[in-house]
Amino acid sequence: MSSKCLRKNKGKLLILLGLFCITLSGFTISGQLNFSHAEASSENTPSESVSPTATPMPPKPADTSLTAYSTKKGLILRWNKVKKNNSGYEIQYAVKKDFKSKKSVWVKNNEKVSKTIKNLKKNTKYYVRIRTYYQAEQEKIYGDFSKVVSMTTAGDVTFLHKEGFYCEKISNTTQKRIIGKSYTKNNYVQLSDLRYIRVQHYDYKGKIQSGELIVNKKIANNTVKVFYELFQKKYPIQRMKLIDDYGADDETSMEANNTSAFNFRNVSGSSHLSKHAYGLAIDINPKINPYVKGSTVLPKNSKSYTQRNVSKCKGKYKDNMIHKNDVAYKIFTKYGFSWGGNWNSLKDYQHFEAS
Ligand SMILES: [Zn+2]
Repeated sequence: MSSKCLRKNKGKLLILLGLFCITLSGFTISGQLNFSHAEASSENTPSESVSPTATPMPPKPADTSLTAYSTKKGLILRWNKVKKNNSGYEIQYAVKKDFKSKKSVWVKNNEKVSKTIKNLKKNTKYYVRIRTYYQAEQEKIYGDFSKVVSMTTAGDVTFLHKEGFYCEKISNTTQKRIIGKSYTKNNYVQLSDLRYIRVQHYDYKGKIQSGELIVNKKIANNTVKVFYELFQKKYPIQRMKLIDDYGADDETSMEANNTSAFNFRNVSGSSHLSKHAYGLAIDINPKINPYVKGSTVLPKNSKSYTQRNVSKCKGKYKDNMIHKNDVAYKIFTKYGFSWGGNWNSLKDYQHFEAS
């Protein structure tokens, strides 16, 4: 029995086995079986697996994570840079969640942090994941795959301002989301009067997010331009999801500080249609820019932001409030919107509407 075989065992068992071998073969191995108590009881004896001839494994690069953004005929992907022990990135995408018939895109530069994949099917949900790799002499050593992200590519685009900033007709996918919620059949606004908008925006942590909005086609192109300019200025918008994700309930959406536009509803507390019902008004960061009429404050969780003086306001995000002549105000008014914070009878600090 070789000493190599014996080294796979430990402690008392090993000694017993050794004795058993001696009995069986009569072979003298006294020198090799000279275990001390300490050696025999150690769980972490390092000598076992290291062979002097083995080549050290190249280091495995750290993992990264991915964010996907929709654009016309494609996806824009961004990830976290991994420099150490990393040669580049492999991106895999597929229309099926299990990555059957996947395609790979190689980014052979560890400094790069974004890639646009083009010529994809329109209005199609894609699943995407990424992993780092280290190019060793013979083989690639991979990091683990990131979490899978999914994103739907643009549908019938009517206006593409910049990659990732566009509007499209209301697709079947969008119809399924809004009919019976923010959209109900009516004599004033048809689905063909509306446009679905995709933009990118910075959130309150400074991360770029994918935002969506539905507005009237009359203001759709300008709205895309407004949000592109806000993005260029890194204007913080906490979230931009269709109000339908909040059951088309204005209060719930506002309490989540969700930026939204179209919702077929009446003016709060009245029986006539709101500008939002036509998709002609946009509410920005509503929780920190409330609607204030006398003692009524909407949303209900925004009371601290009725104090508009930043030095006196106690709200956590007081620095992101909208003020007259600030960056948001200037961009919106440049494109013909007026601001509810300028009204006299009430103040609607979140509200920009087409004049
Ligand atoms: Zn509004």
